[in-house]
Amino acid sequence: MRQPTISDALHARRVLAGHLPPTPTWRYPALDATAEATVLVKHENVQPTGAFKVRGGIALLDAMDPAERDRGIVGYSTGNHAQSLAYAAALFGVRCTIVMPENPNPAKARAVAGFGAEVVEAGANFDQAREHAEMLAHAHGMNLISAANDPRIIAGVATVYLELFEQAPDLDVVVVPVGGGSGAAAACLVAAALAPSCEVIAVQSAASPAGHDSWRAGACLQRPNQTVADGLATGSGFELTQQIMRTHLTDFVLVDDAAIAAAQWVMMRDAHTLAEGAGAAALAAVLADPQRFAGRRVGVVCTGGNAAETEIRACATREHELASSA
Ligand SMILES: *Cc1c(COP(=O)(O)O)cnc(C)c1O
Repeated sequence: MRQPTISDALHARRVLAGHLPPTPTWRYPALDATAEATVLVKHENVQPTGAFKVRGGIALLDAMDPAERDRGIVGYSTGNHAQSLAYAAALFGVRCTIVMPENPNPAKARAVAGFGAEVVEAGANFDQAREHAEMLAHAHGMNLISAANDPRIIAGVATVYLELFEQAPDLDVVVVPVGGGSGAAAACLVAAALAPSCEVIAVQSAASPAGHDSWRAGACLQRPNQTVADGLATGSGFELTQQIMRTHLTDFVLVDDAAIAAAQWVMMRDAHTLAEGAGAAALAAVLADPQRFAGRRVGVVCTGGNAAETEIRACATREHELASSA
């Protein structure tokens, strides 16, 4: 598969300029105090779909030729990739079917249907949903869209980091949550070109460590997939994103789901920001390792805000154990 380049990312930025404003990057004194670092939060939670993935969806559909668009697209997703494809498909007038694992996050399923895509619930998990989507795409001659293994999607996602390195040019490190790895691969691509001395650290849930274990092993592996942070829920490493991460990623760390929930709470308390689990995972990695980040300028990507209602209520009422209690 072709690797995306920095020119692809710059092209995607010109395409996206017609559809989405840049998202803000904010610093919060209370959050700096909790983290004992200078934390710059890149707010992808304010996208119209509530997550960064919409950048990849729009870049992908823009890059398709008319014949390809006419065939329609099929995606499989626990939610945010689905919303991205549904949103972009509506924008370009393309037919879109989304396969979600059974019992999806209801807020995400409603949003996908609301953007006008057809929602099919099939399979107990992400991998079974993928098999069903492959079957549908084959049966109907539609384009099957991977969540991360696509250079057009990575180029679109890379616009997050073009913006971030302009908004915060002197970052020491940027921390990126990983599912399939489009975000971390995009961060590597842009950092290598524009901020080569900035470290890129990836983070995944210890309950779904396939991306982490694949990166450490240097080969795509299958792993148990049990995180409740649905944006991070994948059971295998993705070839293209792993290749890119191998070239520039500084480190890949794991945090447990309780630490992610605690970081969600800190996002609410200190940054008045509602993050979904995956959207708080980067902050969780910072809070989990205070020595590593102390006194540094840290970019934390809040990748999404699509928390389910039950998740929001539980997060706000639970007592969280915080490593550093400011
Ligand atoms: C998809 C997603 C991630 C992980 O991104 P990948 O590109 O799949 O690694 C992180 N956070 C949120 C909110 C997501 O939707």
